[in-house]
This record gives sequence, structure tokens and C-alpha cells, in this order.
Amino acid sequence: MSGDAPNPHLEGIPADTLRKVQTHLDQFQLPLEKLQEVSARLMKDLVRGLGKQTHHRAPVKMLPTFVRATPDGTERGDFLALDLGGTNFRVLHVRVEEQKVLKMDSQICAIPQSIMLGTGKQLFDHIAICLGEFLDSQNLKGKTLPLGFTFSFPCEQKEIDKSFLIRWTKGFNCSGVEGKDVVKLLKEAIERRGDYRIGSVAMVNDTVGTMMSCGYKDQSCEIGMIIGTGTNACYMEEMKNVKRVEGEDGRMCINTEWGGFGDDGSLKDIQTEFDIEVDKTSINPGVHIFEKMISGMYLGEIVRLVLVQLTQDKLLFEGQASEALLIPSKFQTKFISDIEDFSFHLLHLYQKYLWIQPNKNQITTKSSLYFYEKTKLCFTFLLQSGGSLHDWVIMKSFLSSMVVFCISCLCLWFRPDHGLENAQKVLTHLDLKWNLVDARVVRLVCDAVSSRSARLCATALATIANRIRANRGVAHLNTTVGVDGTVYRKHPNFSEELQATVRELAPECSITFLVSEDGSGKGAAMVTAVAQRLASQSRL
Ligand code: BGC
Ligand code: MG
Repeated sequence: MSGDAPNPHLEGIPADTLRKVQTHLDQFQLPLEKLQEVSARLMKDLVRGLGKQTHHRAPVKMLPTFVRATPDGTERGDFLALDLGGTNFRVLHVRVEEQKVLKMDSQICAIPQSIMLGTGKQLFDHIAICLGEFLDSQNLKGKTLPLGFTFSFPCEQKEIDKSFLIRWTKGFNCSGVEGKDVVKLLKEAIERRGDYRIGSVAMVNDTVGTMMSCGYKDQSCEIGMIIGTGTNACYMEEMKNVKRVEGEDGRMCINTEWGGFGDDGSLKDIQTEFDIEVDKTSINPGVHIFEKMISGMYLGEIVRLVLVQLTQDKLLFEGQASEALLIPSKFQTKFISDIEDFSFHLLHLYQKYLWIQPNKNQITTKSSLYFYEKTKLCFTFLLQSGGSLHDWVIMKSFLSSMVVFCISCLCLWFRPDHGLENAQKVLTHLDLKWNLVDARVVRLVCDAVSSRSARLCATALATIANRIRANRGVAHLNTTVGVDGTVYRKHPNFSEELQATVRELAPECSITFLVSEDGSGKGAAMVTAVAQRLASQSRL
């Protein structure tokens, strides 16, 4: 954690233990100058990825998406959407209306591990079955609806409905799909069944879906970012810079695939021994190095490896690891969010602002930031609604943030050690024999790993914002980012830390963050709708 104020995570840990623990955690602390260096490297890689001669060997793929326009608000119609590659596989029925994208219904289908690691045919047959069942349940089988397919893996897209998988990521590894046209594989699986038909297909990456679904609300949304199981971003690039696609005019959305940053060894100086181990034991060693330092699929495992090391050094659990702690993937990324639960941060806010304990010098910059953001949010809500809170959606968000705030405050009033309870629960769940110092050290480890993730993501996002600003030749850029992903949504202060770091690294950019509701599903429908609008306009 950066900042001048003392870190409350350090409280209650004996100085000697703390010093030794810090020698392991120091590698996760990346000062601003380091991040600026990393940003400069990424900026070079963005250019390499876009170049005609250089893209073949570029670690950051910068894939053209053939999405040339964000929504203009006139799109209409009913669509199907598939969303594969996030936490769940989903099928959706989406209606696009005036200024609204409505999810009519949706269904989650499990994808068993055996299919994730089976053959491509099994995977696409499974998808076709799920879609068929959904159409049945919705009485849609007779209709031929256009379909948006959110496929969240790196694809070399030739057209909006022709998209070749470059490689699997995030634990998928179905044989016979890499190098193939995924739309064709889907259509063939549907034809094999023969009991329903689909209309035109548009393929999108989840980042693109996220950008497009936010673009309907906010037309300055020109970046989409995911920090979930995997991580990635897309943005609107000037056509004249997209050397691999004909044409100089206008813009095209580029899927950066920033997860691949570092695949040529450029991040060696910031990779820790734990990152190297996570990469080595993954199903795709050597690729998506940046993603493996950031995203939900890997954060828990990094923490677990650090905990094992600290136990070996007798700095945790009196040197006794449990069987569970030694099993790869046993420490879920979700545990990090639980352990860093924001009631802990609230405790320090209340110390500062409500004087529950007059221990003012223990406040972190992080938690004051949290308070600042929440207060700002409340005022924004009030202002947006003209002071009357008549808009139900705004009122709901306002009330829910206030309720959370008040309940946490009450909890803290009665249970001042609430912040550590979650850590204790997780450690018990992992069969570990812990004491309070252990719980504090574990929380410190979680904080180090999640903070690094937030700061690295911020670095990549700032790089893109700076690039857009340079492209436009403006002194100051106002832009909006559509964001989604479990890590961004669920971690108690990930978004605050990310946003604060972006402000430091891209001071000439004012960035609004819009969490996209159901972005990857609704966005796919949006892309299909925009494609239809453009097609009908060109027919006129
Ligand atoms: C994939 C990207 C995707 C990201 C977030 C990465 O593993 O390569 O295509 O956007 O995960 O889901
Ligand atoms: Mg998704």
C-alpha cells in the first residue's frame, strides 16, 4: 500500500515478524515511477500490435473487431445473446428499445470441467443444447432471431461474423478449436440438431460488449474493461493507425488483449517468484503473463503461494500448514475480497470522521479515499435527481449505499474487530490453526496482492487513455470506461485504488467509470443491433 499515513493493516503484528513478512511482500509494492516505466513499455507494445509488419510477433495482439461505431440510440429489435468465457456461460433474450436495452430473460448453463478440457465438438454441442432448451422455455423456437455471441478469448476477426480463435485462456482448453472460425463451429453444431434456426451472428469480445452496452447510456464511452476471471480492454482507435485493416477514415474498436503483455519477457523485473510459479503450473505456461498477475483466476493462487512460503519460514501458523493450504487453487480469489471486507476500511473512516476511537493517525489514504468516493457518489445521486430523488434507479442506488454504510457502522460499533472475522472464517475453513497475528498477516498478504493487481490494471488503463488523448491531439480528454468483472465489482476497495492510480498516471484525462450491468450479454445484442443499423443504412 502506498501513501504517507501509517498502514492500519500493520497494527497488532510484532515488529520482528512484520519486518520478515515485509521482505516477501516488498516485491508486490510497485512505486509510481515503476508503473510509469511499465506504462511506457505497454505504449510501445500497443504500437507494435497495430503495425502491419510487427503484429505477428507482438505480445499485445491489438485485434481489430470490425466494430466501427458505438450505438447512436436508434437501434431496435429482439436478439439472442450467448456469453461464454466469464464466470458463467449464459444464454439471453434481449430487447433493444428507445434508449434502453432490456434483458427479457436469461439462463445460466454450467460448463463442466470435462467439457472445458474436452473436444471442441463437445463444447459447441453443449452450447447448442443450452440454447435449444432456452428457446423452448421462452417459446422462441419458431422465430429466427439474430444472435450476438460474446466469446471472451483472443480471436483474429475477419468480419463481424468470422472469427478465428488464436488461443484458449482462463482454464479452457478444448481440442480442435484454435485456429478455427468459432462462428462456423457454432452454426454447425446448431445445424447438427436441426430443430431451430438463428439469424445473422455478430461475434464480440466481452470487453467490446461491455463498451457497447455502456455506450447506449453514455455516448462518450469508448473504452471497455474487464477485470474478472481474466482481464482485458478494448478502445476506439483511429482507422489510420489500424494498419492491418483497409481505410483511413473514422475509428474502429481494437481488442487489445492486454493480458498477453509480458509474454515476450518484458515484465521480468516485476514478476515475483510467486508469479513465476503460478505461470509454470497453469495450463498455458508462458502466455498471458500480465493477466496472471491481475485477474481472478490467479489472485487467490498467488496469495496461497505466499502463505505457504510464510508458513515454511515459520512466520505463520507456527510453521504448520494444513493439507488444504497445500492444494493448488484451494485459496479462492473470493476469499481475498472477504478478508479485506470494507467494514474494516469503514472502521478507520469512522475513527477519523465520527471519532469512535480517537486514533486519528492510523488512517490510510485508501480509506479516506473510500469515504470521499462514497460521499461524492451520494452527492452525485442527489444532484442528478434534482434533489428530489424521484428517479427510482437513482434512489435505489442511493438508499442501498446508505443502508450498507449504516449497517456496517452499527456492526463496527458493537464489534470493533469485525474486520478480522472474515479472515478467521477463511483460515478455519482451510483447517489452519491460527491466532490473531496470523489473521492480520494473512490480511496483509491479501492487501499486497490485490493492491498490486489494481495498480497494474490502472497502469494499463492509463496507457490507453493517454493514447486516445494523443490520438485526438487534445490537451485534456474526457472519456468514459465501461467496466465489468468479478474482481472489480466484488473486491471492497479495488475500484477506488484503481481509479486513484489512474488519476496519478493520466492526470490530463478525466475518466468516468460506468459499471456495466450485464455488459457482455446485452452488449453482444447491441453490437448485432448496430451492425444491422449500419447494414440497413448502407442499403438506403
Ligand atoms: C481473454 C480476453 C477476455 C478477458 C476477460 C482473457 O483471458 O483473452 O479475450 O476479454 O480474458 O474475460
Ligand atoms: Mg462476462
